[in-house]
Amino acid sequence: MGSNTITTLGKVLSSAFTAGKIIDISMELNERTVVWTADPQPKLTPVCRQPEADCNFTWLDFGAHAGTHIDAPFYLFKDKWTCDQIPLNRMIGPCQVIDLTNVDDEITEEDLSLKSIEHPIILLKTRNSFDPMTAYNPKHIVLSVKGAEYLAERGVTTLGYDYQSFERDGKNNVHHVFLSRSITLLDNLRLADTEEKEYLLVCLPVKVTGIDGAPARAILIDEQP
Ligand SMILES: [Zn+2]
Repeated sequence: MGSNTITTLGKVLSSAFTAGKIIDISMELNERTVVWTADPQPKLTPVCRQPEADCNFTWLDFGAHAGTHIDAPFYLFKDKWTCDQIPLNRMIGPCQVIDLTNVDDEITEEDLSLKSIEHPIILLKTRNSFDPMTAYNPKHIVLSVKGAEYLAERGVTTLGYDYQSFERDGKNNVHHVFLSRSITLLDNLRLADTEEKEYLLVCLPVKVTGIDGAPARAILIDEQP
């Protein structure tokens, strides 16, 4: 049975690659990546470079919440999961992209109640995904606390978003709604190339141990013909 499952997954992956149905929803991480206004810019220091050196080796220096990354409950709760403790079924599995590009300021409970939430992994696509990301946008689309509570009550276990944060003021009220329930957050997604439908999410955060956030590569596989 195990090998059949692997064969089935292998077929899904190989046909998705052939049909170009894999969407990279990760942000580029480099010295120009837009980060939270209080954080230093990521630094990628070339320790050595060819032809002067034998090899190319780079020193990385950036915050745990730079670029596409996950937020662990430990960010706000010292006794809850750190990034490496989050079960991988929160990061890999069927998911649903919800299109909220009609919203021009704040996603409300009413906006979300018009959508059917069918999976525990939900990615919210907003106008943020179309931001060229050349500078921090203080007016980026946000999620209301009531909207966050609505999603938590629908059984969402992983919530993806297309900006650095769900909120603008740095007060973490929306984060509190999710992280108090150990809902995993996936920030800084790029969802412009996605549609409102089901995909298979594969997101693997770097296994940095004992901390609040970890950079991740996230892709969507379109299984539908
Ligand atoms: Zn974060």
